[in-house]
Amino acid sequence: MKISIAQFAVMGNPVSHSKSPEIHVSFAKQFNLALQYEALLVPPQGFRDSLCAFQKQGGKGLNVTLPFKQQAFMLMDKLGKAAQRAGAVNTILFYSDGTRYGENTDGIGFLNDYCKNHGGKIENQSILILGAGGAARGILGPLLEQQPSRVTLVNRLLSKAQVLSQDFSRDLTIETYDYDTLPISRYDLIINTTSASLTQDIPNLSPELFSSNPICYDMVYQKQLTSFLLFAKAHGASECIDGLGMLVEQAAESFFLWHGMKPDTESVIKKIRKHL
Ligand code: NDP
Repeated sequence: MKISIAQFAVMGNPVSHSKSPEIHVSFAKQFNLALQYEALLVPPQGFRDSLCAFQKQGGKGLNVTLPFKQQAFMLMDKLGKAAQRAGAVNTILFYSDGTRYGENTDGIGFLNDYCKNHGGKIENQSILILGAGGAARGILGPLLEQQPSRVTLVNRLLSKAQVLSQDFSRDLTIETYDYDTLPISRYDLIINTTSASLTQDIPNLSPELFSSNPICYDMVYQKQLTSFLLFAKAHGASECIDGLGMLVEQAAESFFLWHGMKPDTESVIKKIRKHL
């Protein structure tokens, strides 16, 4: 007999492209749960009202995507450790007493994909992060806990990188640059957290950065290699990984928070990739 569970959703703007409904329904099938999970388009000023309405009608769990993760953080009663450090929430659990618990699963999603699915390591590695938006903020805390030897942050708008560095430099001093001043240096891993690949753009990087054969990770995913990964590969990247695995892994952590069960992610990554 199937168990019926009401009301899960992702809210964002835009949101129609979201793979979250497909991913969560695939997870639910593994446990014979009949899950309702919708993608809800929310107007730019309407997040608070939409959240309250969703909760009032019996919503149990919510994912939050661009541009509402920081706003969601402000609307929680309790926060998980990763959300506290990131200042942003991508997963909300509604308790029956009306309280809201917010967590951020982007960082653990990245680590599970990079370290478990791809055998990568962070400890003692020299890491360059491109971009200083919400995605960089989401991964920095969990990444630093793995004790890299060095983290460098580069962003077009230097002040954003500097704010991030100040917020996260408790464990390690994070160097910050804009693209014009970034020195050529040896990195083991380059993570592209910018949205540049969505428009087939490439952050303004010297090809020489890739000559030490770093592993390159792009949080954007698409059917073929992203523009950043194509550039990285052409100039020496030893391995190119896109963000589809991270997407499924962060969803698996949300699923666990809501249902207390760990879904198999490998089969779901394969299934979603097949249909990109
Ligand atoms: P934000 O809007 O918060 O930040 C965007 C970042 O990209 C900024 O640092 C911005 O720089 C930079 N940027 C945009 N275009 C360019 C460009 N042409 N050259 C250099 N830098 C550029 O977005 P998020 O951080 O939330 O998300 C970033 C990307 O990561 C999105 O594409 C999102 O889909 C993806 N993502 C993927 C996840 C996954 O699970 N795979 C999870 C979360 C995010 P500046 O500040 O100078 O404007």
